[in-house]
Amino acid sequence: MPFRGFNRGTIVELFVESPIKCPIAPLKFGLMLDDYLRDRGVRSSVDIVLLYPPTDHLHAQPEVNKLGRILLEERGVKYIFNFSVSEIRPEEKVVVSDKGERIKYDLLITIPPHRGAKAIRDSGIGDPYGFVPCDRYTLQYRKGKTKYDEVYVIGDATALEVAKAASVAHYQSDVVVENLVHDITGEGLQIRYRGGETICPMLTDLYTQHGRGGRAWLPWWDYKVNEMPFMTTRFGWWFIRAFYLSLPLTMRGG
Ligand SMILES: Cc1cc2nc3c(=O)[nH]c(=O)nc-3n(C[C@H](O)[C@H](O)[C@H](O)COP(=O)(O)OP(=O)(O)OC[C@H]3O[C@@H](n4cnc5c(N)ncnc54)[C@H](O)[C@@H]3O)c2cc1C
Repeated sequence: MPFRGFNRGTIVELFVESPIKCPIAPLKFGLMLDDYLRDRGVRSSVDIVLLYPPTDHLHAQPEVNKLGRILLEERGVKYIFNFSVSEIRPEEKVVVSDKGERIKYDLLITIPPHRGAKAIRDSGIGDPYGFVPCDRYTLQYRKGKTKYDEVYVIGDATALEVAKAASVAHYQSDVVVENLVHDITGEGLQIRYRGGETICPMLTDLYTQHGRGGRAWLPWWDYKVNEMPFMTTRFGWWFIRAFYLSLPLTMRGG
C-alpha cells in the first residue's frame, strides 16, 4: 500500500542497532510522522511505535533525549527501549524480540544495522563492523599497536565514538586536509582535532498547513561539552533552511 494511502493501523519504526548515520533521525522521524498524519487528519486512527535497540535513551545527548521524551509523550508516540529484534514475521506482520515480545505492525519501517565497506572488513584494517580505528585527536590510523601516521581516517568510516553525521566529517576535514598539506611540505602534524564537534538538526514539526508550523533547532556538542537545554522553534526552522540553502556557498574549497 502506498504510504500516502495509509490511514489506519500501526506504524512501527524498528531501529535495530547502533551506530547508524544521523542517530537523531529515528526520533525526529517519529515526530515528523506524527505531524504529517495530523496534517492529513488521520492521526487518531494510526498508532506510532518506535522500537529502540538495547539502550535506555532516545539519544546519547541528555538534552536531546529529554526534549525527545517530552514531545513523544505529549503527542502519544510510543517508544520501547531495549528491544533486541530476533525475528520479523511478515506473514503475521509481527516483530519479535529476543525475549519473545511481539509487536504487531501494519507498516514496518526498518533502519538496518550499518556496516563499513566490505573491503575494510575483509582486509582486517578495520574493526569487525568495518569501521576504521584512529586516534581521537589526530585522526591518524591506530589499531592496537599498529600505527600509520600518514593514514588519516574521516567521516562515517571512523570507529570513533562520535555521531556518523556530515557535520562531523565537515569539522574533521579541516584537520585532515591541513595535516596532509603539512605532511607533504615536511612540516609534520600541525593541527589537532578539537574533538567530536557535532551539529545535528532536530526537526520536530513539519511546515504544514494545520500544525504549529515548522519547528527545529540545531543542537551542538563535542567530546567535552554537552548541548545546553533547548527548544525547537520557528526561528530554528528558518535558520536551518537558510543554513542548508547557503551551505554550498559557505563550504570551504567548494
Ligand atoms: C537519511 C539520512 C539523513 C541524514 N541527515 C543528516 C543531517 O541532517 N545532518 C548530518 O550532519 N548528517 C546527516 N546524515 C549523515 C550523513 O549523510 C553522513 O554522515 C555523511 O554523508 C558521511 O560522509 P562521508 O563522506 O564520511 O561518507 P559518505 O557520504 O557515505 O561518502 C562515502 C563515499 O565513498 C564512496 N565509496 C564507498 N566505497 C568506495 C570504494 N570502494 N571506492 C570508491 N568510492 C567508494 C561512496 O560511494 C560515497 O560516495 C544523514 C544520513 C542519512 C542516511
